[in-house]
Amino acid sequence: MLERTLAIIKPDGVRSRIIGEIIRCYEQGGLTPIAIRSTQLTKEQAKDFYQVHRDQPFFDDLTSFMSSGLIVVLALEGEGAILRHRDLMGATDPSKAAEGTIRKAFGSSIDCNVVHGSDALETAGKEIEFFFSDDDLYSQIE
Ligand code: GDP
Repeated sequence: MLERTLAIIKPDGVRSRIIGEIIRCYEQGGLTPIAIRSTQLTKEQAKDFYQVHRDQPFFDDLTSFMSSGLIVVLALEGEGAILRHRDLMGATDPSKAAEGTIRKAFGSSIDCNVVHGSDALETAGKEIEFFFSDDDLYSQIE
C-alpha cells in the first residue's frame, strides 16, 4: 500500500552535517520526500509533538534536545513507507540497531539517535499534519 510517513532529522543530525547522507538513505530505500522543511521547535512544540511520552522519565531531556537546534522535517511517500522507514532507521538505541541502518551508522546514544520516524498509519497522519498543510504535500493519495 502506498503510504506516507513523517521523518525528522534531529538536531544532532543537522549539527553533524549529514542531512544529505540521511536523505540519500531514504531515496535508496525507496522513499520519496514529498515535502521538506527546516525549522526549530520551541520547547512547548516539542512537548506537544511527543505528548505520548509525557509521563516518561526521559520526557524533559527528549523535549529539551528536540528544541535545541535546527531540525529537518520530511514527509516521505512509498510502498509500505511506515515499516520501510522504521527498518531504514533501526532500533531506538543505536547500540542495538542493525548494521546498515541510519541509527547504527550515525547515532551516538538513545538520546542522540539522529532521526525520528512515525510508528503507525494513524500517528503518521497526525505527525505530518503537525508540520505540513495539505498544500505543502504533493497529492497522489486521496
Ligand atoms: P522511536 O520511535 O524509535 O524514536 O522511539 P520512541 O517513540 O519510543 O521514543 C521517542 C524518543 O525518545 C526516542 O527516539 C529516543 O530519543 C527517546 N527515548 C525513548 N526511550 C528512551 C529511554 O528509555 N531513555 C532515553 N533517555 N530516551 C529514550
